[in-house]
Amino acid sequence: MTDEIISLLYEIDPEDLYISIRLIRGEVGPGYEGVDLGIAEKLILKAVNMITSIGEDELSNERKRIGDIGDTLEKVIIRKNQASLFSEPLSMDRVFNNIQKIARKEGRASQDVKLKIIVEMLNDSEPVEAKYIARSLAAKMRLGISTMTVIDSLSYIFNTDIDNAVEALSDLDLGEVGNGYVKEMISHRTKPLYGLIEILSKKKGCPIDPYIREQALMVVQEVRSSVSELREKIERAYNVHPDLALIARSMAIDGPERVIDISVKAGVPLRSMLGERSKSIEDILLKMGGTAAFEYKYDGLRIQAHISKKRDGVDVHLYSRQLEDITEQYPDVVDVLKKRFSGDDCIVEGECVPVDRETGSLLPFQVISRRRGRKFDLMKKVDEVPVQLVLFDCLMHNAEDKTLRPFMERRGILSVIFPQISEELELKGGLSLSKMKIINDIPQGEKFFEQALENGCEGIMAKSTSDTSFYQAGKRGWNWIKFKRDYRSELNDTLDLVVMGGYHGSGKRRGLYGALLMGVWNENDRRYETLCKLGTGFTDDILEDLLDRLEPYKINAPPLEYSARMEADVFFQPRVVLEVVGAEISHSPIHTAGWKPSVDDTGYALRFPRFTGRFRDDKGPDQATTVSEVERLYGLQNKRSI
Ligand code: AMP
Repeated sequence: MTDEIISLLYEIDPEDLYISIRLIRGEVGPGYEGVDLGIAEKLILKAVNMITSIGEDELSNERKRIGDIGDTLEKVIIRKNQASLFSEPLSMDRVFNNIQKIARKEGRASQDVKLKIIVEMLNDSEPVEAKYIARSLAAKMRLGISTMTVIDSLSYIFNTDIDNAVEALSDLDLGEVGNGYVKEMISHRTKPLYGLIEILSKKKGCPIDPYIREQALMVVQEVRSSVSELREKIERAYNVHPDLALIARSMAIDGPERVIDISVKAGVPLRSMLGERSKSIEDILLKMGGTAAFEYKYDGLRIQAHISKKRDGVDVHLYSRQLEDITEQYPDVVDVLKKRFSGDDCIVEGECVPVDRETGSLLPFQVISRRRGRKFDLMKKVDEVPVQLVLFDCLMHNAEDKTLRPFMERRGILSVIFPQISEELELKGGLSLSKMKIINDIPQGEKFFEQALENGCEGIMAKSTSDTSFYQAGKRGWNWIKFKRDYRSELNDTLDLVVMGGYHGSGKRRGLYGALLMGVWNENDRRYETLCKLGTGFTDDILEDLLDRLEPYKINAPPLEYSARMEADVFFQPRVVLEVVGAEISHSPIHTAGWKPSVDDTGYALRFPRFTGRFRDDKGPDQATTVSEVERLYGLQNKRSI
């Protein structure tokens, strides 16, 4: 495939090179623009009907019989009407411009315009041209030409060392087959090169003079490494500016060596850097050379925000990890960025997480995922599910590429771009920095990890702080290492927890309880110990109901049989039991369930607790879930993994 592409693209002029790459990839523009073809086949057949007068039924039967829209057109287009025979030959330019016009026309009224353009093109097509135009329009080219294949091809096409090698090799006598390969290499580049390497590598039975063979082998090996060097540069360009057609054109016009100048640009999403995974904190520190910046790993949606200062205000574009433009789905994030931004063109990255309006704590990612794709009731969702953008990296600052600067420097810039930013989640501000700590020993690392879980995160991201801790766009590398608790351990069991305290609600929950402090029964020490703060799973009706149910048990101070480190606005006698589900049991320095001060300073906690809606009126408080059950659940949880 690489060879075919090379011979197709090798002698094409730069403008056509751009279009050819678009066409063979079946794209109208770069992927991140999200403009797709995919014209209904019916419309294509209608166009054929107009220029051939073959009935629509007959066309549709032919299409069914033949099985492919392209093959169908190739066959029937010969029957063009006489009047249509005067035609102007097609050019790549014209076809591509037309395809672009069609793809960018939206709405019903545009159907007629599209039809007109298709008719015009098919009218001037040879049968084989009609075949591929139809396939392109229907988005059925299906050539399967991957990004890597194109990058590979470009690294041969633009490799001037191949031309130099051909010159050097032409002076050597490499036998009939060898000399043949050298000649072919000028335009075919890959196949003959590998053929030549094969003969030259044979020590025995090689008819070439041993001295010449050695010399030639050195030349071809140099070519090989020069090809992989160029491939790496093109790959880097693609990772920071994912548009192969544009890269190819710029290499053709500005020269292949200028590919290193292709850089980040506001409005062009970079491919995301990804982390490796590790099985322990110890292993992470070992790989990071003893020190690393540990950050909470938030469970949300990665967002790459491109912010530019324009004459009439600030322009913001948000991209997902798949480089889709998701600006429209997060108007609240756009607003916050616009408000708090200070500077010129910047690109920053962060995790967008849903936050509980009542408790201010993080919610599971599923809550935010419901926002995707909804256009009409978006504003309602924006109101219901507030989000926080937790920033963790900066890739461009004041129009300067920062990807090749060390991590701590990049992170430092975030506070310059957003002057008031802090590591605390703040509902009103909508923007914060990821929680980070420089860690250089295992216990500290363990503690930070537990804290991350306690705060509703899925683990930690350890980041290298070395001088070479660059932002490796599009790569999974050891500069970032993720470590999280296995989510397969989602608790299947429900827990029956005792209401120990309450927190006054605000906003929509004003006058009601916004959250409750929930506990388990410690059967050995005969006391109630806290396991979580519960603020999710309550409907307005349930909250009203709770107000009445809890009223008789209100007390001024926590009773003696309570062990709590957390404050509450109100305490209750242990009476009301609620059924609760959660994601997992973790350790926590703020809850007291199973807390053994002599062992370590943490108790158990339930992450992402949610009320199932079921009041366990059938259970007395001392029949609630016990500490030993929690301990057992924790043990069952498959422990820590990656
Ligand atoms: P994973 O999806 O498990 O491979 O983990 C990588 C993802 O974690 C990234 O794509 C981010 O969306 C997310 N993430 C959450 N918090 C951070 C953080 N502090 N630094 C980097 N990535 C983070």
